[in-house]
Amino acid sequence: MELIFEQTKDGRRGYSLPSPDVPSHELTAAFRRQTTTHLPEVSEPQIIRHFVNLSVMNHHVDKNFYPLGSCTMKYNPKINEETARLHGYTRIHPLQPQSTTQGALALMYGLGEYLKAIVNLDGITLQPAAGAQGEFTAISMFKAYFNKKKEARKYILVPDSAHGTNPASVNFSGFQPLTLPSSDNGLVDVEKLIALMTPEVAGLMLTNPNTLGLFERNVKKITGTVHDKGGLVYLDGANLNALLGITRAGDMGFDAVHFNLHKTFSTPHGGGGPGSGPVAVINDLLPFLPVPTIVYDGKRYGFDFDVPDSIGKVQTFYGNFLVMVRAYTYLRLVGAAGLRNISKSAILNANYVIQSLKDDYLLPYTDYCMHEGVLSGRQLKESGLRTLDVAKRLLDYGLHAPTIYFPLIVSEALMIEPTDSESKETLDEFVNAMKKILEEAKEQPDLLRNAPHNTPVRRLDEVKAIKQLNIKWKT
Ligand SMILES: *Cc1c(COP(=O)(O)O)cnc(C)c1O
Repeated sequence: MELIFEQTKDGRRGYSLPSPDVPSHELTAAFRRQTTTHLPEVSEPQIIRHFVNLSVMNHHVDKNFYPLGSCTMKYNPKINEETARLHGYTRIHPLQPQSTTQGALALMYGLGEYLKAIVNLDGITLQPAAGAQGEFTAISMFKAYFNKKKEARKYILVPDSAHGTNPASVNFSGFQPLTLPSSDNGLVDVEKLIALMTPEVAGLMLTNPNTLGLFERNVKKITGTVHDKGGLVYLDGANLNALLGITRAGDMGFDAVHFNLHKTFSTPHGGGGPGSGPVAVINDLLPFLPVPTIVYDGKRYGFDFDVPDSIGKVQTFYGNFLVMVRAYTYLRLVGAAGLRNISKSAILNANYVIQSLKDDYLLPYTDYCMHEGVLSGRQLKESGLRTLDVAKRLLDYGLHAPTIYFPLIVSEALMIEPTDSESKETLDEFVNAMKKILEEAKEQPDLLRNAPHNTPVRRLDEVKAIKQLNIKWKT
């Protein structure tokens, strides 16, 4: 359709669609605009300033530190964006003949091979669009596995420190979650696991390192216990940033694991942006993978829909392809040795922050942590304050807050994940701000109670914001 450029009586200029008497092959008169549209005319500097100003009203990882525990808000290399914008990737259609999409298929196949090597498992699907959907996909495969064996198992064990998506995925897949209590050191209580692992239990979902940032020392004993009773063990792989090149899900005895490509392998996320949650599995689970799987016969890549016991499709087409392009780019960029360095830096950074703050805030579980650690702001109650007030005050220092009130087993929790991509200067800036805020809490508690003070909007009524959502900027 052609746009007509014209000047109206009041001297404003704008584009209009063809006037209704001009015959159009595309729209009938009922759908065509009857009056001139007045699109604003702005110069490039004006529009750039508009968007730059909007972009800095919110906090984001390109602006400053973002230690949101369990979310792995690491730096997103800009080359990921360049490759994800290549026309060869953005202008293909999912229904195009496979002979014309060999490059995209090769990338997906290659990414799958890398991911399988990273966790030492046998098969993979790239379809799920988030970690949570990966959990659902894998536990549905567990269900199909037991159905095939004609075993009517009802329950899946989920530790009390688990992410809320774990019990949700268990329910969605047709099982019921059974809570596995943690021991005093924050790890799986193996005696309780042995007692709970009855023939009615299909398996266990475990996060390792767990949401306290602690590595399960008895992991082989744990997976072995479940296997001895005929069960399957799932690794919630959201914390993979701690394990790259150090240990692998397959070596620890896990039967399935999801990846959060957007976390570990660096795609902008957190604003609800597209994610990707591939699932890798052992040989015994291959027959149940979602269709299509991606295959390579030594010459050509293609889709295989012939998986008779497949749980079916879990996504439209093949998943969030451009997130896969970013993850693939990131993996090629850092290489095998780089992967190990990522986890080493992530672990070092987390311990630096936790050790620097443990005399100021409470450290409920005193072991060294992996890529994240959990403090408690319980002592703030003496000043009539809460962890929430610290989180809000951090915004005035230009820093994002850690995750708060999770995991649920720590009261007034502050879950800090600095990630691998931060400098010592940035970590010190955060540590100093956290210490300063504790001083403020004693001397001027109102400063915290009314924080934030310097942000475009002040403290929001979050419940109201959710119940009466208004996303119009100006009315
Ligand atoms: C982020 C996370 C999930 C869910 O992943 P999404 O990609 O957000 O759906 C599950 N478990 C843990 C431990 C997580 O941190």
